[in-house]
Amino acid sequence: MEAKGKTNLLGLTKEQLGDVVEDLGEPRYRAQQIHEWLYARGVTDFRAMTNLAKPFRDQLSRVAVIQGLTPLHQTFSPKDGTTKFLFALSDDLRIESVLIPPATAFRDTEQQEEDEQSRLTLCVSTQVGCPLDCAFCATGTMGFLRNLSAGEIVDQILQVRRLTLRRVTNIVFMGMGEPLLNYDSVMAASGIFTAGAGIAQKRITVSTAGLPDRIRRLGLEKRKIKLAVSLHSAVDATRSRLMPINRRFPLEDLLAAVSEYYEETGQRVTYEVIFFDGVNDTEREVGALIRLARRVPCKINVIPYHSIAFTDPTGIGAGLRPSPRLEELVRRLRDHHLTALVRSSAGEEIDAACGQLAVRLSRSPGERRAVRGLASQSA
Ligand code: SAH
Repeated sequence: MEAKGKTNLLGLTKEQLGDVVEDLGEPRYRAQQIHEWLYARGVTDFRAMTNLAKPFRDQLSRVAVIQGLTPLHQTFSPKDGTTKFLFALSDDLRIESVLIPPATAFRDTEQQEEDEQSRLTLCVSTQVGCPLDCAFCATGTMGFLRNLSAGEIVDQILQVRRLTLRRVTNIVFMGMGEPLLNYDSVMAASGIFTAGAGIAQKRITVSTAGLPDRIRRLGLEKRKIKLAVSLHSAVDATRSRLMPINRRFPLEDLLAAVSEYYEETGQRVTYEVIFFDGVNDTEREVGALIRLARRVPCKINVIPYHSIAFTDPTGIGAGLRPSPRLEELVRRLRDHHLTALVRSSAGEEIDAACGQLAVRLSRSPGERRAVRGLASQSA
């Protein structure tokens, strides 16, 4: 929150801005105005906050800064319309966000077709690296470096809005990191998205590898944030091989928490499953998945595997191949009256984005300066 002894306002909630404002001897409602400038309008300069008196703006710039991410690079994929954004943090670590067009975004059957067409989903990162080390995930191979602050999470959307001049309607916490391990910042960022950036809570999805206590806590928030669980297998032995976190929190614990989340919120949970050849696409596995899916109202999102061979995975990760039986597996699930959604082949590229975010940590100041120029041009 501090930058050069000054308070960074980016990422502060209305409540926290109220404290800053009050400390400066101004009425608390000024926080509402600042909140709007920061998050609804995305301004980065106190001078632009024209409904605040000049002396107050000067006072603000003496004690506070608006310090966000530095955009480094964006890559548009003409094949599926996704755009990946690479950002530098103030300590020069890197993160990525992915803008996903309507047809291929994380789908939700409850929303209408017309709704689908105007939908623009941003997949945001919550940590630099990740400590969970799932065998199929690129981010895991980086190890864990640190949590993002609420400001670093929120600024991903502000920057993308500024760079593309498009309105983001949905947020998925499916980028780098495990959002529920950075719970407070993720919740603060969600609150800011809703109050300041016009994104309804039901259009925010948190995806987790499965931390039961945090899932329960999310259920008790009394928010409409959606829960997606990266399941990948309904058999403990298999899931533990794919996702080491399952050894600490096996399926029964996870399911108990998911069930409580449902009881509290009445919201269907999404299970994300990548089918791997010979690992979790067998009769026994699919049978177990069908039984598990009957326990709590859910939908199943089948994600095509995107290879992470570029990270040189070892152990089980090295041998993972996508299942050739995808269509048949989805048919089986549907025959059992389960809602199973498959991302289109174009979606594969997106999964690449959402499951493949591993950023090389090399510095490139020249590149950074170049893109900084670009960003200010399009702002
Ligand atoms: N840690 C959270 C969110 C980040 S991963 C979680 O585990 O859910 C976001 C989604 O991408 C998860 O469903 C994850 O299982 C999936 N994913 C990870 N690596 C992938 C890959 N190589 N191909 C396809 N999907 C992947």
